[in-house]
Amino acid sequence: MTTVLSDAALSSAANPLDDAQAQLAAAVQTLGYGEGLHRLLASPRREITVSIPLRRDDGSVEVLTGYRVQHNFSRGPAKGGLRYSPDVSLDEVRALAMWMTWKCALLDVPYGGAKGGITIDPRKYSKQELERVTRRYTSEIMPVIGPEKDIPAPDIGTDEQTMAWMMDTYSVNMGYTVPGIVTGKPVSVGGSLGRSSATSQGVVHVSLAALAHAGISPSKATAAVQGFGKVGAGTARFLADAGVKVIAVSDQYGAIQADSGLDIVALERHMGETGTVIGFAGAEPIPGANLLELEVDLLVPAAVEGVLHEGNAHKVSAKIIVEGANGPTTGAADRILAGNGVLVVPDILANAGGVIVSYFEWVQGNQAYWWTAAEVAQRLKARMLAAWDNVLQEGSRRGVNLREAATLTAVERVADAHLTRGLYP
Ligand code: NAD
Repeated sequence: MTTVLSDAALSSAANPLDDAQAQLAAAVQTLGYGEGLHRLLASPRREITVSIPLRRDDGSVEVLTGYRVQHNFSRGPAKGGLRYSPDVSLDEVRALAMWMTWKCALLDVPYGGAKGGITIDPRKYSKQELERVTRRYTSEIMPVIGPEKDIPAPDIGTDEQTMAWMMDTYSVNMGYTVPGIVTGKPVSVGGSLGRSSATSQGVVHVSLAALAHAGISPSKATAAVQGFGKVGAGTARFLADAGVKVIAVSDQYGAIQADSGLDIVALERHMGETGTVIGFAGAEPIPGANLLELEVDLLVPAAVEGVLHEGNAHKVSAKIIVEGANGPTTGAADRILAGNGVLVVPDILANAGGVIVSYFEWVQGNQAYWWTAAEVAQRLKARMLAAWDNVLQEGSRRGVNLREAATLTAVERVADAHLTRGLYP
């Protein structure tokens, strides 16, 4: 029997909002902004907490809590995922919403940042129960979402089906079909080709660029990937396709390792059948925490925030970390990793492929004109690599690391938009 490791057991106790605020404060100081502008950038524009009464299949009633935080709209409608997790908190959602603002600005997609969450472990509920929760949450937040207001997308514990229910609920209430209300929806209801793999494709584009930057050829590189969900599984597969030897992966139940390289396609089949990477015949089980310390060229945390912290950062042996997850590295860990010469490619750059293709999906939906898979893939790659080059150049121009360079670029763009628009009244 497999044991579920709680996220809290594997991540630091740190509040991700502290890290997000500290990153902003450092950028504000470098950019020389005053207190008023700092506060404006630090404060969410709108936050909503809703109760979600759920009728369970057995007739009992449970009340869940839902959040939607819209951090900033200066550059366009708010945009961000919806997370289903029993531990989700308002501070976590606030941090994730702020990071979305910087991500959209860094990639120059015309959105602000938002994030949502519901306190639910989706594995413990039936499909019908999840549908009722999703529809009720959508109804509760309806006044503040819309294709020109705030556009949700999948995140941890949610998927294309969740987005289809959200779109249907919103559309039925409006009286007409509104494909632009969510992204990451199924292609059959206006989703974009290439959206489901976009985040992991983007992670791999920057991973290969970072390996090249470090003078490591993909065919000689080894990698470990934490998390085997929407981001982690695709990342492992596309890395393997590029010739990188993926020697270890993990999920919330534990980790597996095969020094000769994992057969990712067979592992995905095993995952589909059992719901976990544990028990895969082609590998040995290892403790989940050990994955982060393996001697690999590339480490991709693609699970939850705060997994690289003060207590384990000094044990990291990887040369490069590419943050598939949002906020996997705490501020304290960042300093330790920088001191040890580890190249950290920050989340707001590394995992931006999802929001880029979400933007493409929204554009296609609004125009009712769909692109080919090849067009989507080519535009995604071009944007990811342009952003990588830009962050690298900014880093060397300013003499700062990649996270600082990315945050400075993004914060400056959001502040510029805000200052140009001015304050009303
Ligand atoms: P998911 O729910 O599809 O997968 C999460 C995976 O992480 C699962 O395999 C789960 O078992 C594993 N996991 C959870 N806790 C773990 C732990 N403590 N140790 C090891 N593994 C653990 O979620 P996802 O969409 O793949 O999101 C993963 C991360 O990527 C999140 O930080 C999310 O915010 C970020 N992200 C997702 C997208 C997207 O398009 N889905 C885009 C950008 C960023």
